[in-house]
Amino acid sequence: MKYAFISDIHANLEALEACFKVIDAEGVDSIACLGDIVGYGASPNECVELVRERASQVVIGNHDAAVVGTTETEYFNLDARSAVLWTRNALTPENVAFLRNLPYTVAVNDLRLVHASPSAPSDWIYLFNARDAAPEFAAFEERICFFGHTHFPGFFLEWQGKITQQPPPRATLRAGERAIINVGSVGQPRDGDPRAGFAIYDDSTGIAEIRRVFYDIERVQSRILDTPLPKSAAERLIWGM
Ligand code: ZN
Repeated sequence: MKYAFISDIHANLEALEACFKVIDAEGVDSIACLGDIVGYGASPNECVELVRERASQVVIGNHDAAVVGTTETEYFNLDARSAVLWTRNALTPENVAFLRNLPYTVAVNDLRLVHASPSAPSDWIYLFNARDAAPEFAAFEERICFFGHTHFPGFFLEWQGKITQQPPPRATLRAGERAIINVGSVGQPRDGDPRAGFAIYDDSTGIAEIRRVFYDIERVQSRILDTPLPKSAAERLIWGM
């Protein structure tokens, strides 16, 4: 079975549509969304509606939870917080209800899906390196955990008790090997590559891949600049930071 994983869309419609175009050409069997559909960008309703229509599984992200009021925004920086307030006003009641009812984590076959970490899905901790990821392997029973949150795509692999970190774009899992995979960010990459990112995993080959897709960044920027959203949310897109 072939899966696509999208995460951290952050209300960037053009990036999301560009990813779906590639996903459709791949002929995947199932699409899952790992949260942060909204926050920062100018198209929150369009993005929520597209995800509702296309994704078989969706988990909640910290920005989604902040917008619907189920998590604190104290640890958000000023720009993130003002985007939360703008998004809260912009969303339709149906889309608010959809976000509010999302689970923190869900299992699909032998895969665990979560926004931030399997050990404490509602605490929004960040897994950046092998040291952060190592204790997380005991927190889920499935073979692979897919997550987002940091906006840095990559692979943490557990083989014969040893944890290693492997950079994108590809990891081929051996029989018995487990993994925690960051699928990157559709709408606000922060690894210096401005292209939209997502992951594809094929359980018949054990190959997991991070894909990057060009999209019309200028159009997204001008849409953000037409709103009272923080200018930084538009500016950073061109740098992928
Ligand atoms: Zn995010």
